[in-house]
Amino acid sequence: MSESLLLGVDLGGTKIEAVVVRVTNDNDFTVIARERTDTRANEGYEAVLDSAASIITRVERSANVGDLAVGVGMPGGVRRSDGAVKNSNATCLNGRPFRAELQARLSRKIAFDNDANCFALAEATLGAARAYRDGVVFGVIVGTGVGGGVVFNGRLWPGLHGIAGEWGHHPVRFGDDAAPCYCGQRGCLERYASGPALEAHYASLSGERRSASEIAARRDSDPAARAALSTLCDAFGRGLATLIDVLDPSCVVLGGGLSNIDLLYTDGVAAARAQVFNDELLTPVLKNALGDSAGVLGAAMLAKPA
Ligand SMILES: [Zn+2]
Repeated sequence: MSESLLLGVDLGGTKIEAVVVRVTNDNDFTVIARERTDTRANEGYEAVLDSAASIITRVERSANVGDLAVGVGMPGGVRRSDGAVKNSNATCLNGRPFRAELQARLSRKIAFDNDANCFALAEATLGAARAYRDGVVFGVIVGTGVGGGVVFNGRLWPGLHGIAGEWGHHPVRFGDDAAPCYCGQRGCLERYASGPALEAHYASLSGERRSASEIAARRDSDPAARAALSTLCDAFGRGLATLIDVLDPSCVVLGGGLSNIDLLYTDGVAAARAQVFNDELLTPVLKNALGDSAGVLGAAMLAKPA
């Protein structure tokens, strides 16, 4: 059976992780080597470039291989028009030609995409949605923010601007009561279906600050938790119904911190069923299988030859 050796890099605001992974044609995979290092974003752009270049050579050395195909995933991503980094939480990268300069240092082409697309690609090919990889998989992040990515037939569909699957900034509430969002609009899904939104809503009802997982655990005993979770599930379901109407994916897979809240798969899906433009809702809504490794594995899969 033929197989590929791929190198994935997950470039976060504080840590960089790199893996060498062996992937068969059937998408069975084995991680051969794994390295972690500090991003060094506080030391500036050149330091991040050094960190990324050196972890790539280091992980190749520990896997005892060289010059692999490399994919890099990072928050924000790369602007299509000029290749500059945008919206990274390692802010020293923003507006800089990071991709071109990393390619020059390593003397090879490197695939880049944002972390939500890497999540979707990993879960669609190696993870929870593997069985649907010949269809359309919508990978959804519900965590600090709300994002997503679309995979068709095992390949990412980035879209013209690279924003395919960005479903977090469409309104699910309207009127003067709709919560203002940093993006400039009001009532965005992210203002109701993210971890910070759930925690803020709970605090406004109870006067106490609790984490999303604590709130989820209190749903039977605490009316404020029940109300905050109900708002979360309703908003999530409205957003989900819209994207199912537009894309009608073969399945939806959830990642991010809130993907551990079981109510999203029951009450959240029921809210989608009530909204979707159809008399039945058959779309499987799955919990991720790869956990925190989805980002770095998805980055590796970006590098897989077509
Ligand atoms: Zn918004």
